[in-house]
Amino acid sequence: MSENPYKRSSREAKKEDTIIKIGDKSLGGGFAVIAGPCAIETEEQIVETAKAVKASGVDFLRGGAFKPRKSPYTFQGLELAGLEMLKVAKVETGLPIVSEITSTKFLDYFERDIDIIQVGEKNMQNFELLKALGETRKPIILKRGKACKIDEWLLSAEYIMDAGNENVILCERGIRTFETAYRNTLDLTGIPIIKKLSHLPVIVDPSHACGSSEFVPALTKAAKSVGADGVMIEVHCNPSEALCDGEQSLTPAEFDELMREIK
Ligand code: PEP
Ligand code: MN
Repeated sequence: MSENPYKRSSREAKKEDTIIKIGDKSLGGGFAVIAGPCAIETEEQIVETAKAVKASGVDFLRGGAFKPRKSPYTFQGLELAGLEMLKVAKVETGLPIVSEITSTKFLDYFERDIDIIQVGEKNMQNFELLKALGETRKPIILKRGKACKIDEWLLSAEYIMDAGNENVILCERGIRTFETAYRNTLDLTGIPIIKKLSHLPVIVDPSHACGSSEFVPALTKAAKSVGADGVMIEVHCNPSEALCDGEQSLTPAEFDELMREIK
């Protein structure tokens, strides 16, 4: 039998599901919900959103401060100033915080102050970044590149794990197919497949998968049905005014209704 290419992430390497503990919360071994705005815009915005999603029973707060946009002429995020606002929201609510890293430049800051570091789909194969994250012991949400196969995704997880950090959470966020009626195609088939191949927690981002808030509840329930360990959902208090991804963001009221349905 040929050697399993997934030396650390495979079920052969470890039979039991990996459960990553973050304070009194965990990823893996249950259905976790991460929610918050695509981008941090102001302190009031992130704190208000954090309080709203907390009241609905969310486990983790997300907020992007480094936004890798396809156009350099669109909002790029508030960077470190944004992360400072996210920290205020953490203090106000007690929610652990998730934010995307785009380079190693601010790795020390992320390592010190951010509870879960997100690697976006555009950086799934930024191997130098993955190796550097492997030197830390932080939980890393590794999003699947929109044109990457499951084997490439798992091998990217291996880069982090082989460098010493076993705390990897895989996030399916939709892939690019021939379909243009919606933003991306959520690869639900991939979820049970990866759960069979790997012991790592796997979550789903229904917001980027469909690009429209209307379909986020259905995809969230679908993700739960196929065995995902959680979801990451974009929520904005005023989606039509959002600086990024408003069309796919739930309002706090819509999010609250969804939380009631899935609990
Ligand atoms: C995001 O989570 O806001 C994001 C940019 O996601 P992705 O990397 O999946 O596009
Ligand atoms: Mn987004």
